[in-house]
Amino acid sequence: MQILKTVQEVRQFRATCSGNVGFVPTMGALHAGHAQLLKSSVSQNDHTIVSIFVNPTQFLAGEDLDRYPRTPEADIKICELCGVDAIFMPDANEIYSQIEPKILAPKELSSTLEGATRPGHFDGVCTVLTKFFNIINPTNAYFGKKDAQQLLIVQHMVKSLFMPINIVPVDIVRSSDGLALSSRNSYLNDDELAQALKLSRSLMKASNLIKANKLNSLEIKDAMSSCLEPLKVDYIAIADKSLKPIDSIELGNTIILIAVYVGNTRLIDNLWV
Ligand code: AMP
Repeated sequence: MQILKTVQEVRQFRATCSGNVGFVPTMGALHAGHAQLLKSSVSQNDHTIVSIFVNPTQFLAGEDLDRYPRTPEADIKICELCGVDAIFMPDANEIYSQIEPKILAPKELSSTLEGATRPGHFDGVCTVLTKFFNIINPTNAYFGKKDAQQLLIVQHMVKSLFMPINIVPVDIVRSSDGLALSSRNSYLNDDELAQALKLSRSLMKASNLIKANKLNSLEIKDAMSSCLEPLKVDYIAIADKSLKPIDSIELGNTIILIAVYVGNTRLIDNLWV
């Protein structure tokens, strides 16, 4: 496995690849959720390139850019075990200069939910991904459904900018007690970890209501709110795949999305119905 630091090294490596190239963009602090993306890519492509880059432009002022977990040695081991061919671990000044273009996420998809609380976040995501897609030129790129809004925005960007890349969604990986794996779970103490289980439980409650044919969004949201008490809820949304709120569940075209504060840590989770 190669560890690449510069754009030039990635281009040279890419030139040696024949067949399909899978790309998995990450911010590192890899866990079993990331590993699922890596394994999907390795099994579906001739070569897999992973990026590990804590992208400064997708953090807002005052967010956790500086204290975001960084575990490069453990990450390299996980990539190696998963059969990755190359890791791109650039410094920020390899990717960004003083004067920068910005790719704007479509506001119809990016101004709600995560984008309402984190304005500009998805512009940073689209900008860095456009750079990485241009450097790596992947056949397939892998994204977790855990970041549902990000996945929908990236699918839209690739389509509307005619980027010849296939976006592959990967299901959410959870711990045995239901908690969606996230690098930010490392911020939680034991008590907060127990409280964080309320997120997946509230989604499970929604799932059970839907199975019982209770499809009214308000009713489902009320039941979820009760499950989440006393945590501070940023949003509970029931939306279609263009992220428009819907009054009633449409099977196959609905995502239930939540963002909740556990202590000072903001966690997201979702359910694709
Ligand atoms: P991040 O390092 O948080 O930027 O995540 C990199 C990729 O891993 C994104 O596509 C995430 O959606 C995906 N990911 C993160 N956590 C999970 C999880 N628990 N299950 C599946 N995919 C995940």
